Parts: sequence; C-alpha cells; structure tokens
Amino acid sequence: MKIICIGRNYADHAREMNDSVPEKPVFFLKPETSLIVNNMPFFYPGFSSEVHHEVEIVLKVNRLGRSIDEKFAHRYYDEIGVGIDFTARDLQAECKRKGLPWEMAKAFDGSAPLGRFVRKNKISDMGNIALRLDLNGKTVQKGNSADMIFNFDQLISYVSGFITLKIGDLIYTGTPAGVGAVRIGDRLQAWLNEELLLDFFVR
Ligand code: ZN
Repeated sequence: MKIICIGRNYADHAREMNDSVPEKPVFFLKPETSLIVNNMPFFYPGFSSEVHHEVEIVLKVNRLGRSIDEKFAHRYYDEIGVGIDFTARDLQAECKRKGLPWEMAKAFDGSAPLGRFVRKNKISDMGNIALRLDLNGKTVQKGNSADMIFNFDQLISYVSGFITLKIGDLIYTGTPAGVGAVRIGDRLQAWLNEELLLDFFVR
C-alpha cells in the first residue's frame, strides 16, 4: 500500500507557511514504513530538532481505480479517519532552499501515525467534518472539511489521473493552520466530529 499526502489544502495553512494557494492539488508519497497504528508511540528521530505535527483527515481507498471521474470518486472510499503528517521542518526548509525532493523530511519511519476509522455513512455531511488536534490537553489545530481548497472527490479524481489507487491506500488530505513542534513526552489526541480517533505519546 501507499500513502498519498496532499499539501497546502487549507488556505490558512498555506498562508502560515508563506506559500501561495495552489491552483491544482499538490501531493507527495510516504511509504508503508511511515505508518504507526494502534496508538503506539512516535519515537523522536535523531536527525531533526524541529518535527512538526500536521493533523489531517484520512481517506481509506476501498477499490482499484485510475483516472476516476469526480462524480464517481465517492465510491472509492467508505471509511474516514485521522492521521498526523509528521514533518521534519528543519530538513524540509533545507530541501526547499536547495530545490531537492522532500522525502527525508516527510517520509521517514513513523512519520504517519494513523487513528481508528469511522464508516462514511456515520458522517452526515462530508463537506462539514470538524477536525481537531490537542497537544497535552490544549487544542492547537482546528479545521473543517468545508475549508479545504480541494474536496475529497476532487483529490481522488486528480491524484488517480497520475497514480492508480489500490485497496488499502491512504490519502492524507492536508492540514489546517496551527502546525507546530512536538517534544519528547508530548501527548497528541486527534478528533473528528468530537470523536477521539487517535491518542499517542512522543517518546
Ligand atoms: Zn501535511
């Protein structure tokens, strides 16, 4: 399986990064080895001194597809969850400065903690899903799928024009504003519509 991550999908986060708001979705990949499941701890990597949390709504692909028409895209996932796109911001800044790929800053081991999923039919409005991250009990990121620049169906349609989607693939759909550094000992808790789906520590 593969993890497809969408960059800059909330205007407020693009602004806080001094990035422009994209005209087309921006995406990159993480390997399977970046996953952390079952609320296992994230081990802070030695190669970075500035790992940032990015809380994101995650879609789980449930059928094979490529070049998917936007109007059929909703058929390609039936579970939705939450994850963290951990980013070594110091390494990413260096990659950006040198015009190099981002993988070492984005795709490292443990960079994609993943929470529980809920069935799509339990969610009344896909265009109005509240997303929240608490760091040590204090809310640090808050977003809503209504504020996404590209909605789920647009993302699936666009990405599948380049990369075949397979069963079990995950799409991390971008982060709202409020990203920031984590430290050893921190507790991260992520919520969708007031339901706690992810809860783990940094070790
Ligand atoms: Zn992200």
